[in-house]
Amino acid sequence: MISVEEALEKILSYVRVLPEEERPILDCLGQVLSEDIYSPLNVPPLDNSAMDGYAVRSTDTRGASRQSPRLLRVIDTVAAGSISRHEVTPGTAIRIMTGAPLPKGADSVVRFEDTDEAQRKGRVTEVGVLRQIKAGADIRQAAEDIVKGSLVLKQGTIIRPSEIGVLASLGRSTVKVTRRPVVAVLATGNELVDINQPLPPGKIYNSNTYSIAAQVKRYGGTPKVLGIALDSEDSMVAKLNMALNSDMLITSGGVSMGDYDVVKDILAKEGEIVFWQVRMKPGKPLAFGRIKGIPHLGFPGNPVSSMITFELFARPAILKMMGKKNLAKPTIDAVIKDSVVNSDGRRIFARALVEKRDGRYFAALTGPQGSGILTSMTSAKGLVIIPEDKPNVTAGEMVKVMMLDWDEEI
Ligand code: AMP
Ligand code: MG
Repeated sequence: MISVEEALEKILSYVRVLPEEERPILDCLGQVLSEDIYSPLNVPPLDNSAMDGYAVRSTDTRGASRQSPRLLRVIDTVAAGSISRHEVTPGTAIRIMTGAPLPKGADSVVRFEDTDEAQRKGRVTEVGVLRQIKAGADIRQAAEDIVKGSLVLKQGTIIRPSEIGVLASLGRSTVKVTRRPVVAVLATGNELVDINQPLPPGKIYNSNTYSIAAQVKRYGGTPKVLGIALDSEDSMVAKLNMALNSDMLITSGGVSMGDYDVVKDILAKEGEIVFWQVRMKPGKPLAFGRIKGIPHLGFPGNPVSSMITFELFARPAILKMMGKKNLAKPTIDAVIKDSVVNSDGRRIFARALVEKRDGRYFAALTGPQGSGILTSMTSAKGLVIIPEDKPNVTAGEMVKVMMLDWDEEI
């Protein structure tokens, strides 16, 4: 039986970085930029006011104070989005709003708070400046953020809300990114019923399709839900044909030793099996191969096993296809509060609550660890990792915990 590392290495060797596509910027959140972005303009394009106040010549404020205001004649008002046709000449000022381009002749802005404007009722034709200000005060320089022609975002950058904002500030509506993988998701099992149907005796609702599709979305892929296949070759082959245009196929169920576990038989017959079974718990029956040229992860049917094998193997595969380099899920060191016995030499991933106290992390098991207890995943903050060569872990020992809600290792 191969180790978690060997399994992951094999899987990654079968997936490739996908080609680029041009997409509207808002659709690119979490994708990897596949072009260098140079700025076609200065941001901001013009010197402009950082405050609401008066555009003045700083020399006109020399010696100004509350006791001896400097009086200036107000010749215009300029709002953001407009350019004043007037010039600030000695002894004059132009009322200016935040973001409005600085009028000719002015070299600084006096904030309203530093004038006597509040005391003047109605239309202000004259204003008293109550403080001496320096040249350049409260002005945002043209190009202080981005210089025209400069490299703003490099190829390989992961697009976050801030990158989307910067692209918009350059007037870019679309951008080239590495394409998102389409991941076909197929549940298998005669016992499964879809969630919009009544539940007959002996049946259970298909939950794996939904947890897997949600995990695909969370890590940036596009799930293609293929529904439920029965535990028969005919039913599965028919469904598998719907996966042909996908970048990866994930099935759940049908990879164990039972009479109806036909997924791996089909994989062997219609494609190739790269490996079956990994030294881990839960998740041991994981199968991986290629079917009609598409990488196929055959997850065990137990809902917890399915989610954990996704985190360990499907997540890095999706990230790699999206052009990401940092594939590791963040892991911390924590003090374990429970003892765990590891009887058969597999790597255990135990669902755990995690808390931080006095600068240290503590992990406590969520309760029963059966791989059918899906609610354990809802309470878990992390997965305690018990190495395969450690027969037991005693409360108080240090363990590694893979954090389920931390998205990226720094
Ligand atoms: P299998 O790997 O097919 O033997 O399934 C193992 C266990 O997981 C069985 O108890 C199944 O009923 C359950 N199971 C399989 N597929 C699903 C699914 N899509 N949703 C919920 N439970 C499932
Ligand atoms: Mg089954």
